[in-house]
Amino acid sequence: MRRKSVLVRSLIALAAATALPGTAAAAELPALPQPVIQQPKLPQLPDVQKDLKQLEQDAYDALPKELHNSPVFAGSSRPVEKPAESGKQRSQSVADATCSNCVAITYDDGPGEVTDQLLDTLKAKDAHASFMVLAPSASTHPELLRRMKAEGHTVGNHTASHRELNKLSPSDVDGEIKAGAAAIKAATGENPRWMRPPYGATNGTVEAAAKANGQAQALWSVDTVDWKDRNSEHVCEAAVSGAQPGSIVLMHDIHATTVGAADCVIDSLRAKGLEPVSLDRLIPNPQAGRQYLTR
Ligand SMILES: [Zn+2]
Repeated sequence: MRRKSVLVRSLIALAAATALPGTAAAAELPALPQPVIQQPKLPQLPDVQKDLKQLEQDAYDALPKELHNSPVFAGSSRPVEKPAESGKQRSQSVADATCSNCVAITYDDGPGEVTDQLLDTLKAKDAHASFMVLAPSASTHPELLRRMKAEGHTVGNHTASHRELNKLSPSDVDGEIKAGAAAIKAATGENPRWMRPPYGATNGTVEAAAKANGQAQALWSVDTVDWKDRNSEHVCEAAVSGAQPGSIVLMHDIHATTVGAADCVIDSLRAKGLEPVSLDRLIPNPQAGRQYLTR
């Protein structure tokens, strides 16, 4: 390792020495009258700098990965971070290897008119979410469900008609769950692994039906009350202030104010060291029937 670092430093010194004549030539150029004639351009200077940068980059790339963060290479041999692409700001995922700092952001009652806008934001931010869809909306917009799946989000079952399942007979509960799952399967080709009882209204009957249909119950630990407030700032504040590692955050993608808060939710969670992920990432092996309020 030591020999390699000496080699890299020699390479860089050599490259710097090669660059010197060009720099000296630039310094010795006579001053030209101003402002009538413009300073002549020195075409070779940028090229030398480019070569030097490439040499540095090659030397850096040749280093063992564990040395990339060494302070020894914090100077000229470390490649300059590329500036963020113009246009929509792209923040970075801060999930660690075991997702110990992850939270699940979840959106119910869609897909709706602004769901595609939410998907655009999630994509631009490289963040992931879960969508608990209602059967009629899923059947109207199967292309949105396919997009959710293709872009790494979890699609969950929010039943056929959004009734309080704890007040229904076992066969009606089973019917609500089966109809929701069928709409998802028709769109994505897959049965959901998650269902969310509307209003969080659950009981033993719901648990048994969810289990029989191979779906875990996704409840939540952070309720943004976004349906009531309809204020993006409040939605963001509620989502972020209550979030801890393993939290499940409840929102609704049928409200423009909630979709408008998504940038803030993602950036602010990341500023707290938390990463918004899908339920499938937060809880990779859910147990059918079981209620999950958090991981
Ligand atoms: Zn709902």
